[in-house]
Formats: sequence, structure tokens, C-alpha cells
Amino acid sequence: MDLNKELNTKDSMSGGQIVIRKKPNGSILVQRNHCVTRYKNKEILSRYQNWLVFKQLHLSTKPGEVFSNSLPLSKKLKSFLYHFAMSPAGALWVQKVVNLDLYLLQKNYYSVSVKKNQLVFTPTEDFLFELAYSKFYITETQSSTYASGSFIAIASDFLSKKEFSQSKQKIDHMAVLSHEFGHTKFGEPKTRANIYSEADTVLRYENPVRILNHFLPRKTYFDNKTGRVISIYTKTLKKAK
Ligand SMILES: [Zn+2]
Repeated sequence: MDLNKELNTKDSMSGGQIVIRKKPNGSILVQRNHCVTRYKNKEILSRYQNWLVFKQLHLSTKPGEVFSNSLPLSKKLKSFLYHFAMSPAGALWVQKVVNLDLYLLQKNYYSVSVKKNQLVFTPTEDFLFELAYSKFYITETQSSTYASGSFIAIASDFLSKKEFSQSKQKIDHMAVLSHEFGHTKFGEPKTRANIYSEADTVLRYENPVRILNHFLPRKTYFDNKTGRVISIYTKTLKKAK
């Protein structure tokens, strides 16, 4: 996936309203009712619907839930994630995660009920036995922000940092989170922890969001483990909606 393209070609970043039906034989049918872009409010509503599913399944709520010293997400970071989910690039990432949830629902790895007009997903025994280990989480950490295939750990002081330590360019936090999503199984699975794939991740997943949010694209990536710096040449400066 390349956000440079996705953000400019897709009409709906949310994928459309989630529709769940129980068929007469008891099986579950999950569909997406694609939004018509001229109804902006429908798009916003389905972003919100995705967020409600995402929030209940993927935000860490207990200490040590994701790795030994992981922390439950603070209110501040939760609210940041909400704004991310409602933004164009964030909506696209959240849609990808929720699409997998919907697929797993259809395969009976979740059961679903409706409480106060909200979909409530409950993992079935099959999920707990077969898939719990690979569940995707967003969690908080005392160390720095990083991601692996199945989680994103956001540093507790993430939002208080305003510029990159070496380049002094301003940080767009939404774009950094999009960068981290790029390292997960929902982004480029081949991402390796080297400076070249980091530059590629900035190019594909971070700079398109920066441009969208009226920040200048990042020009360098600094690897604080090795002290190396790599230049990033952003080719297309498209104006996205
Ligand atoms: Zn990275």
C-alpha cells in the first residue's frame, strides 16, 4: 500500500457503513455499504462506526497486556487515536484493521451483539485458542514509540515532543502514527529495521499525511541506534482532499 496513491484515488477512507445480518441458517453475513462521497456525513459516520469496533478490540487496557511492561493507553492518547481514526489517513488504517475483524466475525472467531445501538464483539473460544497471540494492539510505553507486526507502542511523552531531534523539522503526530502502522502487518510486511526501509516508510506512509496536514515533507531520517542519517526525496507533492 502507498498512501500517496490511496489518499488521492479512494473516495471513501472508511470503506463504508458496516452491515451485519444473520442469515436464516444462523450464519453471519457481513457487508460494507459503500458511502457515496457527496454525502460527507455518511463517510464521517462510518469512520466513527469503525472507530467503535477498533476501540473495543485493539486498545490496550491492562498493564503488561501486550509485552512485559506495556501500559494501558492514557486518556490523552485515546483521544489522539480517536482524532486519528476520524482523519483521512487514520480512517484508512482503521478500516484495514476492522476489515480483518469483520472477516474473523464471519469465520466465527467473534460473536456479535448489539448493545445501546453499538456492535459488541466477543472473541469465541476458537479465537482464544488460535488467534489470541496474533491480536493487534495499540499500547503505551515508557520507552520510545515503535511498532512490530502485531502492535504499535506509543511513548507516554509522544504528544509533548514537537520537533525531530536532529533535523528540527516539526513533528506531525498523525503522520508518525501512520508511519508506525506502515511497520505493522497492515502496512508493508517486508519492512525491516534498517535505514533504507525507514526512508521508504517515511516516503509511503508518513510524508503523504504530512502534506495532507500542511506540514513540509520530512527530508531526512535519523537512526538513533547507529547515528546514520538518510535523505528522503519526496517525488510527488500531490494535493489531496
Ligand atoms: Zn519506522
